[in-house]
Amino acid sequence: MKTVLITGAASGLGWALSRQAFALGHRVILVDMNAALLASRADTLAAEDPARVTFRDLDVTDGDAVQALVNWVQDNEPSLDILVNNAGITRDQIFMRMSDDEWDSVLNVNLTSTMRLCRGVLRGMMKARWGRIVNISSIVGATGNPGQGNYAASKAGMVGMSKSLAYEVASRGITVNAVAPGFISTAMTDKLTDDQKSKILTQIP
Ligand code: NAD
Repeated sequence: MKTVLITGAASGLGWALSRQAFALGHRVILVDMNAALLASRADTLAAEDPARVTFRDLDVTDGDAVQALVNWVQDNEPSLDILVNNAGITRDQIFMRMSDDEWDSVLNVNLTSTMRLCRGVLRGMMKARWGRIVNISSIVGATGNPGQGNYAASKAGMVGMSKSLAYEVASRGITVNAVAPGFISTAMTDKLTDDQKSKILTQIP
C-alpha cells in the first residue's frame, strides 16, 4: 500500500484518479478547494475503508497552506509515496486582451503550485529513496490553442519543469513524469463553446 496525494481531487480527472488509486488499495489524501464536493467525495471512499482516506480543503496557490499540508503529511503519514499534481484551471482569453490577472491566476494554479508541492515532498521521498511524481499537463502545452496562451504556457512549463526535476532526482529512486491528456469531458471542458469543441474534435482522428 502506498500513500498517494492528489490535488484537484474533487472533480473530473482528479476524482477518477483518486477512485482508481483507492481501488488499487492505496491510501489517498484528497486535496481540493471545493470543500463541500471534496468532503462528499471523501465520504464516498470512507464508506468503504475510512482508514485509507484523508482530505484537506485548500487553495493550492496558497503557499503557506501548501507548506502546512506538507508538514502535516510529514508528521502524520509514514511516507508520501506518490504525488499527483492535477489541480488546474483555464481562464481563456485572446492574447491581445489577456489581463495580468488572467495570466497570473492560470500560471499560479497550474505551474507554481505544482512546483511548490514537488519541492515540498522531495525531502521525504529522497529519504525513502522512492517516490513517484505525476504532473498533469495537457496536449495544449505541445500544440498551443487559440485563446489559451496562458494555459498552454503553464502546461508547457510543467513539461520542462518535470523533465528537469526528473534529471535531478532519478538517482534517488524518484521518477517525475508529466502526462498530457487530450480532450476529456469534465467540468473544465463544459466551459468550451460548441464552436471550440467542434474545432478540437476535427483534430482527433
Ligand atoms: P475540473 O475543473 O473538472 O477539476 C479541477 C479540480 O481542481 C476541481 O475540483 C477544482 O476545484 C480544483 N482546483 C482548481 N483550482 C484549485 C486550487 N487553486 N486549489 C485547489 N484545487 C483547485 O478539471 P479536469 O478536466 O478534471 O482537469 C484536471 C487536470 O487535467 C487539469 O490540470 C487540466 O488542466 C488537465 N487536463 C484536462 C483535460 C480535459 O480535457 N478535461 C485535458 C488535458 C489536461
